[in-house]
Amino acid sequence: MPAIIAHGGAGAYSPGEEHEAGLKEAVSAGWSILESGGSALDAVVEAIAILEDRPVFQAGYGSALNLKGEIEMDASIMLDDLSTGAVASISAAANPIRAARLVMERTDHVLLAGEGADEFARAMKLPSRDLRTEARVALYEKALERMRNGEDVKFFPKTGDLAVDMGVGTVGAVAVDAAGRIAAGTSTGGPTLKLPGRVGDAAVIGAGTYANENGGVSATGLGEPIMRYVLAKMAVDVLAGVGAREGIETVLEFARSKEVRFGIIGAEENGTLAHGFTTDAMSWATVSDGELATFLTRSDGGDARGDGDGVGKNDGGGSAKGDGDEIGRCDGGGSAKGDGDEIAASEEVPER
Ligand code: ASP
Repeated sequence: MPAIIAHGGAGAYSPGEEHEAGLKEAVSAGWSILESGGSALDAVVEAIAILEDRPVFQAGYGSALNLKGEIEMDASIMLDDLSTGAVASISAAANPIRAARLVMERTDHVLLAGEGADEFARAMKLPSRDLRTEARVALYEKALERMRNGEDVKFFPKTGDLAVDMGVGTVGAVAVDAAGRIAAGTSTGGPTLKLPGRVGDAAVIGAGTYANENGGVSATGLGEPIMRYVLAKMAVDVLAGVGAREGIETVLEFARSKEVRFGIIGAEENGTLAHGFTTDAMSWATVSDGELATFLTRSDGGDARGDGDGVGKNDGGGSAKGDGDEIGRCDGGGSAKGDGDEIAASEEVPER
């Protein structure tokens, strides 16, 4: 029954070898914990921390920069008994997921934000580091220039032409352990050029992360519509009746009908894993029945919709068969870059 799934973000981008290597390391670390009788909570936190440490992902080290060129990250964790913790707009922790876990375990609160979250991280003696990478600074500068040139932007029209690039690469993980406990977590730097103080779904329980005794999920995509429709909670509610695969497919159908571009991974209490996305691309990996599989669906692929259904069967979801570490892609391949700065299909503004 133990199983783990992790994602490296959904959007318009071209995940490559570095995404694959990171996801592989993350789910393998989570799996060793589960295999030796460890908890789903430990597995999810360690898997996410590994992804946060890899700059190719847009969480922790390598987070996107906000309008002022600063890093403000969101993260959350939830267990099947509804224990939960989250941080929003945090910058003083190298691993926001660990701060979220400590909010859950060491405070009476669910969500700490901004300076309070930073103070808490410092009080907990969580390691911090300079989280800016050259790749993200370059992405930020390019986006800022486009904004100044008055180029079309789609994500935040009301707040002025702010964001021209999502900085895809939010991470998340969901695991079920041998005792049948479920944990889900999500971590992100949020979209490039977001307004300072903007909080997204990854910090909001029920929007980006949710778990209860029936299952758990982690979402990715533009946070605002995900929060509006409370998609993580919706997915867990639906999967309670029909199982993870059908539950996630139902939520994807809903998201498509509302033109919400997002991705989601989930697990139900019996260890069945599922994933899906309405965007062009997503990267994810699983270990189930001791078998590791990683999958990258690329924006530059032919049919980049994950074979229509996009619902993960542990055998590969889209068009790839998950035997070992084969890269799943929707034929068309194209050039995989995978080095941080190629995220979000360079010049192309992802549809929202
Ligand atoms: N959901 C994240 C946010 O809006 C971004 C992402 O998943 O790529 O903050």
